[in-house]
Amino acid sequence: MRTPLLAGNWKMNGSADLVEAFGRAFAEAELPKGLEVVIFPPFPYLEAAQRVFAGTPLRLGAQTLNPLHSGAHTGEVSGRMLCEFGVRYALVGHSERRQLYREGDEQVFDRLLAALSVGLTPVLCVGETLEERDAGRTMEVVLRQVGFAMSRLEPEQRRLIVIAYEPVWAIGTGRTATPEQAQEVMAAIRAYQAEYDRELAAELRLLYGGSMNAGNAAELLAQPDIDGGLVGGASLKVDDFLAICQSA
Ligand code: PGA
Repeated sequence: MRTPLLAGNWKMNGSADLVEAFGRAFAEAELPKGLEVVIFPPFPYLEAAQRVFAGTPLRLGAQTLNPLHSGAHTGEVSGRMLCEFGVRYALVGHSERRQLYREGDEQVFDRLLAALSVGLTPVLCVGETLEERDAGRTMEVVLRQVGFAMSRLEPEQRRLIVIAYEPVWAIGTGRTATPEQAQEVMAAIRAYQAEYDRELAAELRLLYGGSMNAGNAAELLAQPDIDGGLVGGASLKVDDFLAICQSA
């Protein structure tokens, strides 16, 4: 059985106080058995989060990483550095990175490889824009993004990644994909993986992202191919995020 995973992507939000609030709330929270919960705070909060989250079920993720280990790259952070702060997961290919920072499939793949090389679990984000959906190109776009990475990985590396399906039109818009829309694409991602390896497809964890909140999480998470969520806005409020975790 696949371990459910709920991820809170704070983006360029949050504060030292929010780190403390999450630590306090999750130290006492009753969570569904076996649920994995990961918070992705901005880099400056990682050290505090490592300290505050110790002894809670919360694990740590990074929102991005540089493909290199070190060097003259002002402003960048490497996977090796992240590992020193207890980080276990790294987002790669988030649509905001793809759009605002011009990261294409190749740049995304370089980051994914860098994460794997230091033992971080990459969460590969994929998803279509509204224009692409309206043009009937959803499957083509999503499977291209998935396929670019999968076709370049060794079989044993494919087992180490998590995929997040985030329709771009649903991110931060309050417009969630219906459970049926999300399920349709996520079943297609799993079927695509099955062409490489049936066992891998059965084990692969798929997260839905895009305006997931305490009101719609249960219905989304009940879909057969949705193993968890990547939550943005609703992960900035402790009570909301806790409620989402409890509905898993
Ligand atoms: P949202 O963001 O939940 O605010 O839509 C999700 C994401 O970008 O990961």
